[in-house]
Amino acid sequence: MIKELQLRILPHQAACEASLKDYIAREEGISFSSITHVRVLKKSIDARQRTIYVNLKVRVYVDEEPEDDMYTPIIYKDVSSAPAVVVVGAGPGGLFSALRLIELGCRPVVLERGKDVHERKRDLAQIAKTHVVDEDSNYCFGEGGAGAFSDGKLYTRSKKRGSVEKILNVFCQHGASTSILADAHPHIGTDKLPRIIENMRETIIRCGGEVHFQTKMTRLLLENSVTAIGSPICQGRTAGVEAVDLKNGTFKSFYGPVILATGHSARDVYRYLSEQNIPIEAKSLAVGVRLEHPSQLIDQIQYHSKQGRGDYLPAAEYSFVTQIDNRGVYSFCMCPGGFVIPAATGPEQIVVNGMSPANRGTQWSNAGMVVELHPEDIGADETDALSMMHFQEKLERDCWLQGNMRQTAPAQRMADFVNGKLSGSLPRSSYAPGLISSPLHFWLPPVISHRLSAGFRKFGQMSRGFLTNEAVLIAVETRTSSPVRISRKSDNLQHVSVEGLFPCGEGAGYAGGIVSAAIDGERCAEMAAAYSVSVNLM
Ligand SMILES: Cc1cc2nc3c(=O)[nH]c(=O)nc-3n(C[C@H](O)[C@H](O)[C@H](O)COP(=O)(O)OP(=O)(O)OC[C@H]3O[C@@H](n4cnc5c(N)ncnc54)[C@H](O)[C@@H]3O)c2cc1C
Repeated sequence: MIKELQLRILPHQAACEASLKDYIAREEGISFSSITHVRVLKKSIDARQRTIYVNLKVRVYVDEEPEDDMYTPIIYKDVSSAPAVVVVGAGPGGLFSALRLIELGCRPVVLERGKDVHERKRDLAQIAKTHVVDEDSNYCFGEGGAGAFSDGKLYTRSKKRGSVEKILNVFCQHGASTSILADAHPHIGTDKLPRIIENMRETIIRCGGEVHFQTKMTRLLLENSVTAIGSPICQGRTAGVEAVDLKNGTFKSFYGPVILATGHSARDVYRYLSEQNIPIEAKSLAVGVRLEHPSQLIDQIQYHSKQGRGDYLPAAEYSFVTQIDNRGVYSFCMCPGGFVIPAATGPEQIVVNGMSPANRGTQWSNAGMVVELHPEDIGADETDALSMMHFQEKLERDCWLQGNMRQTAPAQRMADFVNGKLSGSLPRSSYAPGLISSPLHFWLPPVISHRLSAGFRKFGQMSRGFLTNEAVLIAVETRTSSPVRISRKSDNLQHVSVEGLFPCGEGAGYAGGIVSAAIDGERCAEMAAAYSVSVNLM
């Protein structure tokens, strides 16, 4: 017999399969030994009241063996002699494009400026040790993209359930725990992600695709391109890309339709498109700081208990949002039990972000605390598509100057920031390159600091104990999304004026997060595959 049940139980009852079997046997009047397996189909934690409950949907197998897989494996076929599609960037957008292209019978040729995910780890370690950032291998660039050394949170606001499930299935097929299919807030963890990314690369290569590391796209191979007199827009078609091999400086061309999935930090790509008069637009973005609390304090607040999370609950999450002077102020990319990391992509920048391991077991919990900014908020030149990017660049450089021209990040205790007071000392932090006390309230642009300060006061009222000097603000969080949109058509996802070019993922301004970039990657692959067929038929 197989039964599906909805349960609302205490954390210790949901702790493991044995405790679940025990609970179900008693409640359902079945013998413990006849329950062969309990499969958790959905799981969420309800921490709204003093008593914390775990809501579960389970499938109970009584005197029956469970089916093998919780996910539907995809058959990836051999595409070694199929037409090529060039995928620039091996982040979630690029990798999921490549895998979908294989499903559709096209041969992905993936170009990635950074190193493979294993090699990349050495360059990340160097940032904390030497304060030098490799411009092509860092927390944003390299195999797996910005999503590789992250929290690996896999939730998204996307309403397309089918698409989300497909992405989670692909993760499971490449080694992610099937618990991500059940959890209301699934996450993988930075310690588990690299192996999954390597498995995806192995699938691409095994099926006849190509993956070229340290290979940076330098330009599009534009054909019939014209910039009409009086029109500042380049119109034409791309036959592929030219890329430089960063190991030896040689240039090579790669032919095929181009999926451009270069992420939100590829400023050289935005500059190149702008110089070529290939339409791009300035985009709103959110900017602020990383806020780090002791994780025990967040657990105590969120689980309403001095004991914190106890033995059976995960590190607590939070989410805050409010409006201050007509702009959103909100928490972003929360990493319970995680680290704050140096996410710059070049010299003379400080950029912070967060990641956490699968067990979310560090002593700290952090989140971005950001303010929504529109181009008009910073007095941007309306005709300059790079205006928001220039704003990011200036802020990151100011931060680097404040940080003694190293990766030492300017920081201030939370209550001191709200009270406009320099912190005399700073708490211990997970940020490995180190912190330096700095009056963020004074030098952050007022459009950000005033709203953040008012937002923190509100969050402190919503959640007692949250606004505290035990927490520290670390500057500056600028890479929450892309500062630019690479304009594309809504029907076939091709660029508005360059045929055969498919702007994709977060860098193109059409995604924000691992899952949404992956979904966009799949969509771009579908359109590029259809385009490839139409071009080859001509
Ligand atoms: C530290 C950190 C933690 C994060 N945590 C989470 C999280 O927990 N959950 C979540 O949903 N999102 C998270 N994000 C955001 C998420 O990682 C991004 O939304 C997602 O990776 C975007 O995917 P993408 O493929 O569009 O771009 P990216 O992941 O940025 O990938 C772009 C790739 O293109 C490559 N590239 C750039 N220029 C070139 C070029 N000229 N030639 C060749 N290759 C090039 C880059 O090296 C990079 O690998 C995090 C981001 C960071 C930085």
